[in-house]
Amino acid sequence: MDGFDPEQYDVDFLDRGGTVHDFIDNKIKELSLGCSEPFHVANLDNLVKKYVIWCNNLPRVKPFYAVKCNDTPTVIGVLSALGTGFDCASKAEIQLALSLGVTPDRIIYAHTIKAESHIKYARTHGVQMMTFDNQEELSKIARCHARAKLVLRITVDDSKAVRRLNTKFGASLDSAGRLLQRAGELGLDVVGVSFHVGCQCTDSRAYRQAIADARQVFNIASLMGFQLSLLDIGGGFSGNENFKVKFEEVAATINLALDDFFPVGCGVQIIAEPGRYYVESAFTLAVNVIAKKVIMEEEGVPDRVMMYYVNDGVYGSLSFLINDPTSGCISPYLQRRRYRSVIWGPTCDSLDKLTDSCLLPELQVGEWLLMDNTGAYTVCLATDFNGFEKAHVYSVVTPETWRLKFGMEVKCVCVCVCVSTVCTS
Ligand code: PLP
Repeated sequence: MDGFDPEQYDVDFLDRGGTVHDFIDNKIKELSLGCSEPFHVANLDNLVKKYVIWCNNLPRVKPFYAVKCNDTPTVIGVLSALGTGFDCASKAEIQLALSLGVTPDRIIYAHTIKAESHIKYARTHGVQMMTFDNQEELSKIARCHARAKLVLRITVDDSKAVRRLNTKFGASLDSAGRLLQRAGELGLDVVGVSFHVGCQCTDSRAYRQAIADARQVFNIASLMGFQLSLLDIGGGFSGNENFKVKFEEVAATINLALDDFFPVGCGVQIIAEPGRYYVESAFTLAVNVIAKKVIMEEEGVPDRVMMYYVNDGVYGSLSFLINDPTSGCISPYLQRRRYRSVIWGPTCDSLDKLTDSCLLPELQVGEWLLMDNTGAYTVCLATDFNGFEKAHVYSVVTPETWRLKFGMEVKCVCVCVCVSTVCTS
């Protein structure tokens, strides 16, 4: 395991026996004295736990974490120290990974549509593995990085995913032979095949079918004289323990399919590009109620409806709600009378709505709401539209994980104090 240099990152240690919620209570108390800006807490223990679960369930598959999902430097640093590779989609993501000590051989440039300047940057910085799915891209790569190790991304069935990707990316099985032939004519080195079953895949059988499809491309390539040695099974794994399909079930299906189509000893290295899986449950977002309206007896609704305006929204950390408004990330548990509550983000745009169907006890302006499972596609998509600042990320870890996983002695321990007014999800 590479070292994780604590000097490089801003990490707080949890008090012995203390929890992330203790830390949040403490932070809220601290912030309430001055400003009440929204913030995230990144639970590094959760990240480590996910890594261990991955290794236990998918021992043949090396994860290349998809940086696009959450590019918080501490996340990259921890995963790098644990030994993952990285899926980067642009020059900036490659730059970030390299700047945090990731070596170029641990990076796959996994975007099939690349600017020439970004391909050249990859070349000059030693990043060789990259994906493609069309002839134009092959010509670009031949011009800018003729020694690249190419991975052909194929389209697969993503109809069971919450967010589909395969209308935009991937080459059909029918076109795979033509693309391989073109790569050969250009003298390019094709080393493998990749796919992505779509984000938050709800049916593990999609992976089996995709692995079978990839096998077909390996067979076609072999007949054409290519020796492929890499299979990249992409992302699509949920990171939320309450997701309808359990990671263990998906992993078992993948393992079986690998044994059937790419058995141990076949000479093919297996990698994946998980994003959401690693970070989703590691992050909790704390937002402050900055305004409130009580709607009396709306037509057809014989009770009060509360409308709250909070200081983060779809132009900030919560843009994923636009695509997945049903994800309902708020489910507080206070034992007080609850009202149907509408929660709005802080901007002047009416699209900036977090939910209109959650049940909450009546809150007062100045109280805080927490949202768990907010690690995936949140901080990295936040804007400062209307001049609202992006939420800060605080990273926390227990002394035990710090010592066991990173071999570091804990020098400072923060003291956590409870504040009772917080609604937790
Ligand atoms: N790899 C590629 C090429 C992607 O486009 C994405 C997400 O868009 C990922 C990996 C990460 O996917 P997920 O977060 O579903 O694991």
